[in-house]
Formats: sequence, structure tokens, C-alpha cells
Amino acid sequence: MADYATERASFTWALARRQLDGLPDGRGINIAHEAVDRHAAGARRDHVALRCLERHGGRRDVTYGELAERSNRFANLLDALGVVPGDRVFVLLPRTAELFAAVLGTLKHRSVLCPLFPAFGPEPIRQRLELGSGRVLVTTPALYRRKIATLRERLPELAHVLLVTGAEPPGRELPERTLDLEALLGSAGGAFEIGPTDPEDMALLHFTSGTTGTPKGAVHVHEAVVSHYATGRTALDLHPDDVFWCTADPGWVTGTSYGIISPLVHGVTSVVDEGDFDADRWYGVLEDEKVTVWYTAPTALRMLVQAGADMAKAHDLHRLRFVASVGEPLNPEVVVWGNDTLGLPIHDNWWQTETGGIMIANYPCMDIRPGSMGRPLPGIDATVLVRDEHDRVVLGPDGAAVEAAIGHEGELALRPGWPSMFRGYLDDEERYRACFVGGWYLSGDLARRDDDGYFWFVGRGDDVIKSAGHLIGPFEVESTLMEHPAVVEAGVIGKPDAVSGQVVKAFVTLGTGYEPSEDLRLELIGFARRRLGAAVAPRELAFDQQLPHTESGKIMRRLLKARELGLPEGDTSTLVGRR
Ligand code: ATP
Ligand code: MG
Repeated sequence: MADYATERASFTWALARRQLDGLPDGRGINIAHEAVDRHAAGARRDHVALRCLERHGGRRDVTYGELAERSNRFANLLDALGVVPGDRVFVLLPRTAELFAAVLGTLKHRSVLCPLFPAFGPEPIRQRLELGSGRVLVTTPALYRRKIATLRERLPELAHVLLVTGAEPPGRELPERTLDLEALLGSAGGAFEIGPTDPEDMALLHFTSGTTGTPKGAVHVHEAVVSHYATGRTALDLHPDDVFWCTADPGWVTGTSYGIISPLVHGVTSVVDEGDFDADRWYGVLEDEKVTVWYTAPTALRMLVQAGADMAKAHDLHRLRFVASVGEPLNPEVVVWGNDTLGLPIHDNWWQTETGGIMIANYPCMDIRPGSMGRPLPGIDATVLVRDEHDRVVLGPDGAAVEAAIGHEGELALRPGWPSMFRGYLDDEERYRACFVGGWYLSGDLARRDDDGYFWFVGRGDDVIKSAGHLIGPFEVESTLMEHPAVVEAGVIGKPDAVSGQVVKAFVTLGTGYEPSEDLRLELIGFARRRLGAAVAPRELAFDQQLPHTESGKIMRRLLKARELGLPEGDTSTLVGRR
């Protein structure tokens, strides 16, 4: 994208759709055709689609041609098992080539893909399989034995369990009522013709992160691939020769939309790292694989900040040309660190499981305002809506929602109609309908907009603090605390208070070389007060070296709050450490 205003003026979703193939003979549009078959049938057949890095060293390249064939085998196997389009296929696998083949094969077959995060404990897995009526589960013998075998009786709809047996010791018997996926793929045919796929056919079922409550199942359709394609170009700047690394696990929407679909549709090479976060390993991956475009998350970036600039400087990162971040507010401090340490700005962007693709972003062709999420994508209308004292969106006499003035905080909302918009919450029509008010989709987040149309995140609707008549976004307070050299991360909540309604309490994680002390506590409160004023700065501050995070990397402020107030913790299925 050379110029934001020009692109926005000329962009239409219909034009974006025309950049894709569609199925032959007008038989609709299918995500897997655009992601792999299209390339396998053309000039990119031998281009590396996946560069898979094994957890303990070793790497394996998979070309577009090979990926097409493997996913064909998987689709044929589903047919042979009597699975029919629309059935739900759950995938619980480490980040390996087998995962990609299962995902794409499922989409080719027109079954519905539901990716699960492999670190989930047994109960969250059971809960999601049950909610999503899982018919097929693809996993490994180790994960099955550890997490599912004892639950199997409680999952009567689960007809087939397919195990990726590659890592099994030879001769070891597979658990009862499971099938050896690799053996079956070997005898399945390598050719598969994708059946007619209506753009509105359900393709993906994604559970949200559960940051604010019980995870919701968001339904997405095959047409979403138009968004995955267009946003990969405008927000991630993907070009055919890029080596792209999305660090999110496909168990979360980012890892599927941008770890699998978008880069494949663009025909680029994706790095797929089976390993977990480790600062030195990550810099090594960026250097050794010559990554050019990197999509990651604030929590990981904050950990890299903590690891120190020397570690970054020890690696040759000159190939890296574009860095983007999503999932949580990106503290301005981290944007500045990117400039100083990587020599590159970090481009924040905003979206949700429900939106299926990036909605607001900072682009390479646009100046970054540190702390801002950027401007709406071409094809996306975003606004800020006025909310009343009961947090309800205010409607005008014509029934349309009232938009907030520039600089005022309110509900971040999007005009419905982009291709990757969710088509429903699983089995919760009422909740889905409640998201659409006065002509807009309500995101549940609070934001404000500046004169130039940049959006600034204030907080999640549920996290925002109301104190003595002020509306305080935790992000602003957290970012300010992080400007202090001792602080690497902060989580801020509102605590009920008889006088002010709520007072601000901060939980901070200290960097190496700093110890909790009363002096430091007072210093940090004073530091925040000087910058934010007494009304907004935390009244209370506690040290916490282990802030609760979701497995997708978000601070769970609702848990900080529940723990502080001695309330029930609610759904903790996505909390880190619940394995
Ligand atoms: P749940 O809906 O179950 O509580 P969740 O909202 O965290 O979980 P996701 O859909 O994974 O689940 O996350 C989307 C949310 O993440 C957004 O609504 C927003 O609150 C936050 N988010 C994403 N990107 C950004 C960003 N760039 N800046 C600030 N917040 C962001
Ligand atoms: Mg949400």
C-alpha cells in the first residue's frame, strides 16, 4: 500500500475478491483452494510454503505442491471415514506440518475446523469439544493419553480420534478407539477435488481468549479468505518473496488467520516454530531464517525488552523489514524500544476473534504515533460511539447510534459487512444480536479517535475504571508505570471504594536487578502521580512477579480483581499454567 488515503478511496471488497481465484466453474470460494491448491497448480508449486522448526533443532521444508497433496489425503480420509461437510473437526496439535495438512484438508473437505491450543488442560478441551459437537479430533498419542482418554466416555459425539504417531516409540500400542493418522494417510488418495463451497458455508469455529469471561465460539465462513488476503497485503505488507513469522499458536484466531491462511494465500514462506518462547531462540529464528515480516504480541515483546538490548544486538536482523503486534495494547515504551533496538518501529494493530481479521492498523506508509492502534483498514469503517451512564450506546431520533466527538472516549464500533465478520456465536443467537446496535457492530472495547483518524485504545469495556467521576483506562496507567526503569509489566484494576466509587490499584512486575521494597513502592506511586495526576495514578500498588496471563498472552485483569476482592475466579480455562 503506497498511500493510505488513495487506497482507502479506491478499495472495495468486490475488487479484493477478484484478486482471488474462486473455485473452477463458479463453484464458490474455498479457503484451502486459495491458500494452497491455487499455488500448487501454478508457478509457486515448488516454492517453500512452510519452514518447520522442530522443538529440539532440526527443520523441514514443505512446498506448496507437497502441502496440496498432503491436505488432499486428509480430505480423502475424512470422506472415507464417513465425515460429511459441516461436521466439526477439532485439531489439537503442536505447531508442525501435520497441523497444516489437517487444517487445510478439513477446509477442502468443507468440514468445519476448530483449532485447540495444545497446552489446554483436559477440562477446557472437553468443554470446547462438547460445545462445538466435535465429530473428529486430530491429536498426538501423548496429548490423547494425557488429556482426553479419561474423558472419552463423556464425548459421545466424538466418532473418530486420529493420532499423529510420528513421535511414538516403534511398537508402542495406540490407545483404544483411536486411529493411526499417518498409516491412513498413506493409503488415502493424493488427489482431491474440492466440492462446491458457498461463500457463506461455515469454515472455522474459534473460541475467544476468555479474557473477560467464559470463551465464546465465534463462527466464520469461507468468504473470510477475502479479508485474510486483503489485510495480509495492507496491514502486514506481505510480498511474494517474504519470509513471514507469525508467533501466535493456531489455537488462537491470530495463529489461524495469520499463521496459516493469510501467508499461504499470499504464497509466501512461513516459519513455523514448534518451540516455546525463549528470547535467545527467537532472535536466532529471526536471524537464521532471514525473517522479513514478523507478527507477534506485546507480551512477547515486553519479554524481549526485559532480556536486554545486548541480546538483540548480538544477532544480525538486517533482513527484518516489518514488525507488527496484536492482542493487547502495545505500550509506547515498546514502540520506542523497537526503534532503538531493532531499528524498526513496531506496528500495532487491533482486531478480535469476532472480526476474523485485522481492522485497525499502523501501516508501513504511515507515521506511527506510539500508543495508537492506527487507522481503519481500507474497506473498514470504524467509529467511537457515545455511551450513557449505564454503558449503553446512545441512539439518535433516527435510531442510529450517536458518534462521539473527536478526542472523546466511547465504544469502539465497526460498520458490519466485511467478509471475515463472524456470523454468530455458537448456540447463542441472543448474545450475537446484542452486538449489533444502531447500525454498528459493538466491539466491547473503549477507544478514542484523534483529529487525523488514529484510534487510541482506552481499555476493555469491563476493565475500565470509574473513579471520582473520571473514566480511567488501565492501559494508560500501565504504560506510564512501564516508563519507570524498574517496571517490565503492569496490570491495573479498579477496586470498589466507598468515596470514589473505585480506586486504581496497580500490580507491577519488576525487571532483573530490582527488589520489591516500601521505598520503591512509594517511588512508583509518586512517579505515576507526577505524570498522570493524583486522580488517575494508582492509589495502591503491589509487586507481583507472576501476573496472570491468558495462554494467548493477555493480562487477565478480571483475575487480579477477583483475587484482590476474594471473589470467585470464574472460567480460568485459558489461564497460563492450567495444564
Ligand atoms: P474474551 O472475549 O473471551 O474475553 P478476548 O476478547 O481477549 O477474550 P480475543 O478475541 O482473542 O479474545 O481478543 C480480542 C481483544 O483483545 C480485543 O477486543 C481487545 O480488547 C484486545 N486487543 C487486541 N488487539 C489489541 C490492540 N492492538 N490494542 C489493545 N487491545 C487489543
Ligand atoms: Mg472479546
